[in-house]
Amino acid sequence: MSNLVYDFAEGNKDMKELLGGKGANLAEMTNLGLPVPPGFTITTEACKVYLRTGAVPPELADEIDHHVDVLQQKMGKKLGQADDPLLVSVRSGAAASMPGMMETVLNVGLNDDSVNGLAHQSGNPRFAWDAYRRLIQMFGKTVLAMDGEVFEQALDAAKDAKGARSDLDLDADDLKALVETFKHAVHEHTGREFPQDPRTQMDLAIAAVFGSWNSERAILYRRQERIGTDLGTAVNICSMVFGNLGMDSGTGVAFTRDPSTGQPGVYGDYLQNAQGEDVVAGIRNTVPLADMEQLDKTSYDELMAIMAKLEGHYRDLCDIEFTVERGKLWMLQTRVGKRTAAAAFRIATSLIDEGVIDTDEALRRVTGAQLAQLMFPRFDADAEKEKIAKGIGASPGAASGTVIFTSAAAVEAADKGEKVILVRRETNPDDLHGMIAAQGILTSRGGKTSHAAVVARGMGKTCVCGAEELDVNVAQGTITVNGTVIEEGETISIDGTTGEVFRGEVPVVPSPVVQYFEGSLHADDGDELVAAVHRLMTHADEVRRLGIRTNADTADDAARARRFGAEGIGLCRTEHMFLGERRESVERLILADNDADCAAALAELEPLQRGDFLELLAAMDGLPVTIRLIDPPLHEFLPSMEELAVKVALARERGQDPGHDAALLTAVERLHEENPMLGLRGVRLGLVIPGLFAMQVRAIASAAAELREQGKDPRPEIMIPLVGAVQELMLARDEVEGVLAEVGVESIPIGTMIELPRAAVIADQIAEAADFFSFGTNDLTQTTWGFSRDDVEGAFFSRYLEKGIFAVSPFESIDREGVGALVRTGVERGRATKPDLKLGICGEHGGDPDSIQFFHEVGLDYVSCSPFRIPVARLEAGRSAL
Ligand code: PEP
Ligand code: MG
Repeated sequence: MSNLVYDFAEGNKDMKELLGGKGANLAEMTNLGLPVPPGFTITTEACKVYLRTGAVPPELADEIDHHVDVLQQKMGKKLGQADDPLLVSVRSGAAASMPGMMETVLNVGLNDDSVNGLAHQSGNPRFAWDAYRRLIQMFGKTVLAMDGEVFEQALDAAKDAKGARSDLDLDADDLKALVETFKHAVHEHTGREFPQDPRTQMDLAIAAVFGSWNSERAILYRRQERIGTDLGTAVNICSMVFGNLGMDSGTGVAFTRDPSTGQPGVYGDYLQNAQGEDVVAGIRNTVPLADMEQLDKTSYDELMAIMAKLEGHYRDLCDIEFTVERGKLWMLQTRVGKRTAAAAFRIATSLIDEGVIDTDEALRRVTGAQLAQLMFPRFDADAEKEKIAKGIGASPGAASGTVIFTSAAAVEAADKGEKVILVRRETNPDDLHGMIAAQGILTSRGGKTSHAAVVARGMGKTCVCGAEELDVNVAQGTITVNGTVIEEGETISIDGTTGEVFRGEVPVVPSPVVQYFEGSLHADDGDELVAAVHRLMTHADEVRRLGIRTNADTADDAARARRFGAEGIGLCRTEHMFLGERRESVERLILADNDADCAAALAELEPLQRGDFLELLAAMDGLPVTIRLIDPPLHEFLPSMEELAVKVALARERGQDPGHDAALLTAVERLHEENPMLGLRGVRLGLVIPGLFAMQVRAIASAAAELREQGKDPRPEIMIPLVGAVQELMLARDEVEGVLAEVGVESIPIGTMIELPRAAVIADQIAEAADFFSFGTNDLTQTTWGFSRDDVEGAFFSRYLEKGIFAVSPFESIDREGVGALVRTGVERGRATKPDLKLGICGEHGGDPDSIQFFHEVGLDYVSCSPFRIPVARLEAGRSAL
């Protein structure tokens, strides 16, 4: 047998890549002896073949035959058996959870004959015909790509004809008639009959599930969640159990701890006489799991025992889907459950205290991305607010925006830069676009396990659900709440922690976690989340090997970064000191047409620069401060060529003398570059404009000298940008050393950025002239890919992401294979020349969790990132070292 199909009993939880998350965990539960309905899993390998060739592998049919035989023997009944049919569900299940993004077909195995057998066996004809009508409906939509509206309308018509309000008011005969209508619709829309042969139903459903890997919403979801495009989904074929056989049946979703706060204690929702999809869809309101104890104590007790067993086994919060069929409990799914960022920190530290995991493991279980979420602001408790409703806090955060009712309108408004709150009665997978575009999501139906809640939590987006006081009228574009009407376009604010909904915009304050990093709140002040963050941060700092520096150009930023734990500055972009009023001095420098004017302009700039360095070095006293000499092309400091040309032309037309503007225009034209990122910038500027680097170095050295005289410990390091040849660095270095000797401060390290592919490749030579390297991964990404960093993101990256060329922008997360290989080369070759060469990175990737792991692996000494990312970098550096 090849590896295309596995019985549930043959797999285990570690086989997610092959069996998908659902399949692997069904196998694990089966082997733990839990009550899982028998079934088998068709692997992601089969899906990959399907996605590549458009057909399932030829040997799959035989393997499925074999597993169907085994299943039929186990169940004592056959697919399509007229008197007592075996029914199965055909479900998607990828390695990474993608809730509701792919397809499912239930009740496969029913046909015109076996529906009678099911009616007889269950003693409930209404149930049997309802199951058959659901099969045709799901099959039509999913497998035959029919518009779901066709079925919805037929269903509505049947209800209208009967004067019925709910589906439950339709009896067996009504549903039997509806089945006929549905079958006609199938024929009319597809030109073929609804297949009566159960194996054909199954095969077509399997192919449809495979195909749904590439549905628009699945692609969008993967992009959002950075899930690879070529992993494929497994398909689980599971014998059906029914939660809708009466009031002694039901279905539910449960968590072994609260997934939004991390509080210990089981948590979940239960719905009597319903099928699984009814709970997640939020269509009918569920009861809290605790209430199930009164409804069905035996099943409840068994479920509690199973949940305890699962948590003990997985040593983590598990989420569970279960069904009770006539008093018998069945486990349909489990996995290590999604949780909010706050819950992740609290569960991790609780599990240490419970003796379940050690501190290393706890640190592995939280991420930098989660910490970043905890640093978002909250609503100001003291601000005046008009509370209009309270729902369930399903995904934390504080979001304000205009009320929008449809996904399309949300996307449109967000594209215009508007902040919106997507308001729906409930969401479904088609709302994904709008959910991504919105600041927050508000629904009037559904609990913590509804679609809106689950997806929002996964995305880290603020969500309040089940705010039942709200009457959401999408057609009219209004929300009515206790007599007040809120129109589309009005601003509201939602608190995803408390579930409160406010009218208007509520001001925000820093989160307690930020207050902790700032030093105004302490670990022992009684905030449990802050205490958990403190514990894991402390451990991360103990175990990490990477140093953490910040990118900062002002004393304020430097001071904040230092409070957040920065151990120095990895990049001060000095050109930021040339902006504002100082532009005029830069202009004079550029316009100077003789040495004296040039020197005079530089002399104006020098004391200003010196003042900047004094402040910066003082703020980072005792810690290294890498100061990069000016990098961008000079035209960036001049007005736009088009505007200036118009101004000069207008003046001339009016017979006026354009004066200064004319001279400026000549300079702008001289410096204009077609491809500015690759022109006269970086070290090239220093070598071409006499005195420019020297002025900066004098300012640095004299600032350091002054601070030393004051008894301080300034530690500047001078960094030369955009070096591609060792000769460039040697020339620049000569000039820098000359100035340092003049000022009498000779102990300042001189290094370079490695941000051109050539520099990485000849790093062994460059290391001869450098005391340190700092990888400029922004430019290195730009020059390795040939992507202009300011032009490509808006121009075509979204198409590239859709097409799966990359799962995330290479400017956001390091491209390990390409740019990363150059970093590795630079490290190896640099250290081949100088074994103890100090190596850092200061591109945007320095604050990206995934990239930090990579920089740890290749052996850098530190990462440098923006001040606000420092805690994230500390945490991820700690995790990398485990
Ligand atoms: C870089 O290129 O990665 C870098 C840090 O420099 P800048 O972004 O200023 O070009
Ligand atoms: Mg750069």
